[in-house]
Amino acid sequence: MADYKAPLRDMRFVLNEVFEVSRLWAELPALAEVVDEETANAILEEAGKVTAGSIAPLNRSGDEEGCSWDNGVVKTPAGFPEAYRTYAEGGWVGVGGSPEFGGMGMPKVIGAQVEEMVNSASLSFGLYPMLTSGACLSILNHASEELKAQYLPNMYEGRWAGSMCLTEPHAGTDLGIIRTKAEPQADGSYRVSGTKIFITGGEHDLTENIIHLVLAKLPDAPAGPKGISLFLVPKIMVNADGSLGEKNALGCGSIEHKMGIKASATCVMNFDGATGYLIGEVNKGLAAMFTMMNYERLGVGIQGLSLGERSYQSAIEYARERIQSRAPTGPVAKDKAADPIIVHPDVRRMLLTMKALNEGGRAFSSYVAMQLDTAKYSEDRETAKRADELVALLTPVAKAFLTDMALETTVHGQQIFGGHGFIREWGQEQLVRDCRITQIYEGTNGIQSLDLMGRKIVGSGGSYYKHFADEIKAFVASADASLAEFTKPLAAAVQNLDELTAWVLDRAKSNPNEIGAASVEYLQAFGYTAYAYMWALMARAALGKEAQDEFYASKLGTARFYFARLLPRIHSLSASVKAGSESLYLLDAAQF
Ligand SMILES: Cc1cc2nc3c(=O)[nH]c(=O)nc-3n(C[C@H](O)[C@H](O)[C@H](O)COP(=O)(O)OP(=O)(O)OC[C@H]3O[C@@H](n4cnc5c(N)ncnc54)[C@H](O)[C@@H]3O)c2cc1C
Repeated sequence: MADYKAPLRDMRFVLNEVFEVSRLWAELPALAEVVDEETANAILEEAGKVTAGSIAPLNRSGDEEGCSWDNGVVKTPAGFPEAYRTYAEGGWVGVGGSPEFGGMGMPKVIGAQVEEMVNSASLSFGLYPMLTSGACLSILNHASEELKAQYLPNMYEGRWAGSMCLTEPHAGTDLGIIRTKAEPQADGSYRVSGTKIFITGGEHDLTENIIHLVLAKLPDAPAGPKGISLFLVPKIMVNADGSLGEKNALGCGSIEHKMGIKASATCVMNFDGATGYLIGEVNKGLAAMFTMMNYERLGVGIQGLSLGERSYQSAIEYARERIQSRAPTGPVAKDKAADPIIVHPDVRRMLLTMKALNEGGRAFSSYVAMQLDTAKYSEDRETAKRADELVALLTPVAKAFLTDMALETTVHGQQIFGGHGFIREWGQEQLVRDCRITQIYEGTNGIQSLDLMGRKIVGSGGSYYKHFADEIKAFVASADASLAEFTKPLAAAVQNLDELTAWVLDRAKSNPNEIGAASVEYLQAFGYTAYAYMWALMARAALGKEAQDEFYASKLGTARFYFARLLPRIHSLSASVKAGSESLYLLDAAQF
């Protein structure tokens, strides 16, 4: 496997040339104080060094060794604790954290690039800080001032980690039926009892303490999702002076043996009357969790992109070096026994598909991150509201489309290696295995599609969708004629999505099954259209510069490939959507 090199040039292109993000920062007073283009470039450079230097070398050994469990104690693979310390000491766990409690206060769009780098280096490793920063976000937004002051500084510093405890053996997608109980105590705390499964980073040896965010129900809570509350439950109790006290009544019963992300500890957690503290209001736990979920779901999409990028870096190196057969148009490397496989049309198809999907994904996730920043920091209410609605609309697309495309990408990366792609030492098969979970956790991609179509499209009567579609139409209308080769197919793709959206909104009125029947293909048609917008924006930033620098020539070539070879996929997806739900219900359960 090629050594990982952070794609800094491409990140800078997206931030500075495509989105001119420093203009947005200058408009948002809270960000104008902490970040400008120069600071951002320096941060990304440093993140590139730490992720490539300290973390990437552990990816394969971490996969081979995995985590181990012994009587409740979980050990991460060799090198992980030291690398985590280095990462934490650099301040990277708190990169997006509130400066009031010791975080770096960077915008999400910078955090998104750092996440990409750490997860490209090792997804298993990246999950530990990701869960911690997600937990911090819920604490920051919903916990009491006392809890914030007591927990956030140590978590941002990376001395304590976080976990998110939602899933139970019988309750994954449907959290309304969880059984974990929280009983109020006279001192205002709660006793939390129950079993959670699949808890990422529920137990490990990277930090002094682990702060679990646990969903549970009070004894008199209403049934269903409206009866769920959120609790902060530390592994080790924290004394009033901030020092660590006794062990709390909880433990790790076992860890899972998995297809991938083997260096990430996936734990069964038993809470046996553990002391917990309410975060936010009673019965409003899911809302408090959702604060963190928009960030985490975008983060999972970025995990997919990270794996696609790592796979591409190895595939391109291999395709240039591996010689097999002659080019169909005649020998290219005449001094060699055969040509490098990069001459073959099918290898080029795979490489360009990987490149177009990775770079489209990087631009799209950065775009969504900028909307998160605008929603959080804009002082203009209308602007913040629009950005918030765009985040709501685009988050399920970012989670599901980036990870679906990542599986395709990593499989191409494996295929380019031929038989060697199937052999462990080359590293490509690990990326495929690691990628698979990104389509499943944090809400399966099927559930993301339902969220997009049911809650965001139908639920808003199409108004959230209109923000995005109108923005693309305004871009097309104002674009220079020299961009017509990109804006014409983009305009047609948006018109197609308009029609598809209207079709679904209409059909959903008469048959509730239509939403679920259309949702996955609809989300993918949406994703390809969103990437077409990104590629048109990237083409605009590159056009005219291609003769001076081959980076821009490569951008334009990839944009042309995207429009010619990938965007047309929307037609078959649209036909599937319009085929409706009828054919899904022709068999009864026994006939399958
Ligand atoms: C490695 C790993 C790490 C994880 N980390 C965490 C963690 O840190 N914290 C945590 O709380 N959880 C975690 N999870 C749990 C994960 O989020 C769940 O597995 C996931 O949300 C799906 O839940 P489930 O497994 O119970 O599947 P189910 O909910 O049983 O779903 C089974 C299938 O049915 C489909 N389905 C369910 N309901 C519907 C519906 N209404 N409409 C259409 N289709 C439906 C699903 O899409 C899926 O395909 C992790 C899981 C794994 C494997």
